Amino acid sequence: MVNSDLLNAITYLPGIGPSRAKLLEAELGIKTWRDLLYTFPYKHIDRSRLYKIRELMPDMPFVQVLGQFRSFEEAGQGRKHRLTGHFWDGEMFLDVTWFQGISYIKQSVKIGKEYILFGRPSVYGGRLCVNHPDLDSPESTVLSKMSMQPYYSTTERMKKAGMTSRMLERFTSTLFSRLTWTLPETLPSYLIERLHLMPLDKALRAAHYPTTADELAAANMRLKFEELFLIQLVILNYTRKRQQQRVGRRFTHIGECFNTFYRRYLPFPLTEAQKRVIREMHADMKSGRQMNRLLQGDVGSGKTLVALMIMLIAIDNGCQTCIMAPTEILAEQHLQTFRSFLKNMPIRVELLTGSVKGKRRKAIEEGLRDGSIHILIGTHAVIEDNVQFHNLGLVIIDEQHRFGVAQRAKLWSKGQGAGGKEQENTFCPNNPPAPCPMPLAPYPHILVMTATPIPRTLAMTLYGDLDVSVIDELPPGRKPVRTLHIYDNQPEQLRRGIIREIEAGHQVYIVYPLVKESEKLDLKNVQDEYVHLQEVFPQYRISMVHGQMKASEKDAEMQRFVSGETQILVATTVIEVGVNVPNASVMIIQNAERFGLSQLHQLRGRVGRGAEQSYCILVSNFKLSAETRKRLQIMTETNDGFEIAEADLRLRGPGDLEGTQQSGIAFNLKLANLGRDGQLVQLARDTASYVLDADPDLLAPDNILLRQHLQELKKEHKDWSQIS
Ligand code: ADP
Ligand code: MG
Repeated sequence: MVNSDLLNAITYLPGIGPSRAKLLEAELGIKTWRDLLYTFPYKHIDRSRLYKIRELMPDMPFVQVLGQFRSFEEAGQGRKHRLTGHFWDGEMFLDVTWFQGISYIKQSVKIGKEYILFGRPSVYGGRLCVNHPDLDSPESTVLSKMSMQPYYSTTERMKKAGMTSRMLERFTSTLFSRLTWTLPETLPSYLIERLHLMPLDKALRAAHYPTTADELAAANMRLKFEELFLIQLVILNYTRKRQQQRVGRRFTHIGECFNTFYRRYLPFPLTEAQKRVIREMHADMKSGRQMNRLLQGDVGSGKTLVALMIMLIAIDNGCQTCIMAPTEILAEQHLQTFRSFLKNMPIRVELLTGSVKGKRRKAIEEGLRDGSIHILIGTHAVIEDNVQFHNLGLVIIDEQHRFGVAQRAKLWSKGQGAGGKEQENTFCPNNPPAPCPMPLAPYPHILVMTATPIPRTLAMTLYGDLDVSVIDELPPGRKPVRTLHIYDNQPEQLRRGIIREIEAGHQVYIVYPLVKESEKLDLKNVQDEYVHLQEVFPQYRISMVHGQMKASEKDAEMQRFVSGETQILVATTVIEVGVNVPNASVMIIQNAERFGLSQLHQLRGRVGRGAEQSYCILVSNFKLSAETRKRLQIMTETNDGFEIAEADLRLRGPGDLEGTQQSGIAFNLKLANLGRDGQLVQLARDTASYVLDADPDLLAPDNILLRQHLQELKKEHKDWSQIS
């Protein structure tokens, strides 16, 4: 049976003995023929053309030149030791230099013999040269036949053992010579036709050995599409099943509370975006199905007010509501905000955090059980405790951007009794008898609010089955924060700027990247800096907050700044989490080169909350990589969180984005990139939707391959249902 040949151990290929097989498995996870087939080259290089030396320019990509060495010379000692060969193409000489493996080159490379030299031109001391090229003999069969040569990633250990990209190339070409039959298709033929996809057999061969760049692109597109499509199929399948099952409370009417607040106490008109998302959520909440929605809105876009207003709808419909904040200090801020918004209304708002103890705690727990508390504000820790509600109808998770996808998934699974365990429940984990409203359907509606703008296509995958609402508009009258990038050799200028702002009655944040663990990187230490700043600014009071402090110490220091007792807050990134100090007008970020874009943007969001012009000063080192320079430049050019998120995704790829890393979601994408392949993600989503519309349980004979895939994927990712 030819198909099962793909499951042959890799040792069934000539050239791969036990020790190489071991290395391939350990380093690249390659065990079978199939694994090797799906280990794709990271690039191809066009080897069909020979260049003349006179055509070469620095910064060209890899090129090949036919010629011979006329002479060699050695120079330098120790680390400067180098070997330079003078390579002649019949017209001109080119310097070819080696800094390592010199004795091997001297032995093996012959003067006067023809070589095809393959390398990247650069300039050294004003002369064009090529360092450490590959050398092949012109008659080498690989070369003469090859137009697009594959390059495979290898690891340090593989390189040490002599296992190069070239060797992997030999393995794959041998493998293809053995695969004399047509590899079986994995997608239904109606999709292949409809989307004009390359058949799998051709795509796999062309992904390794394309004849043209166009063929390579078509092959990659087919393989990427398949990866993304199968993921979307799982997510959508799960979403639809759940939507059918999850009955939600029906919040049909908008009543007294909402209307009174809206007409009499709303301190400012809502933005159009706020109105729109409230409508979207209300549509969910009256549908009879459970709302599962993600509300995205840049820092300062007014999510809290939106949260409050939909809570009022829930209260109008006889339910209790709760909002969870990531930290105690934020929970307290919410309490103040909510109480001041609602001060003239008969709505009971209470706070429950780890610091609420004894009698006060008892009273609150009592109020939750008897239904007299309408809005509970708390932290996760507290909510996960044994807290019982009389009639909880809406849960809002204000995560800022700190909770990873995995943490959320945990909460989800508890909050909703996902994974079949309908009994397990966040709000009454011990599952006591009445009053325990939670595990019984209908489920409370769930809204997650995030300040991290997530590009749409990424959200589609990471947040899978959540519906997404976006506040894409800031309240009017905000002055955009002005962002400047300066180098760290201008402390005096910075000092004067700080004094000017503080004398004008404002407050200043100064943020540093790390505390203590920074032995290797020469980063400023917050503690030293604190001492130093006290010397520079003896006239001001300074707070310090960092990650090594206890939560209570942190809160106390923070509070000093919030209350205006201190003028400067020196901190590590702990302050990212949405503290609101409208009086703070300057955010200075030291070693800005060490921060990612989304982090910088979050930090900047701490200022610009009042009516005054605010500033964000990015202070960096002189030595910046091109990517870092680009990052800082983007920050100075735009305040738009979505633009920044898109740029971040392009620059870093999705793996690094906050949240996705901790998420532990093994998407197992070999080719597709959620950042760069946004359009394909959309196509995959639409196609999955089309397939499931026509055949929800994938029972049609045409879809048998998909049904099998789904079953396998589900086996591999037991946690899927919780994450998406
Ligand atoms: P975030 O989305 O970051 O949580 P907040 O809800 O904290 O933002 O809102 C930021 C500030 O904007 C608050 O002071 C809030 O009162 C104010 N705000 C919210 N909505 C509006 C609006 N429609 N018009 C004017 N100011 C608003
Ligand atoms: Mg907020």
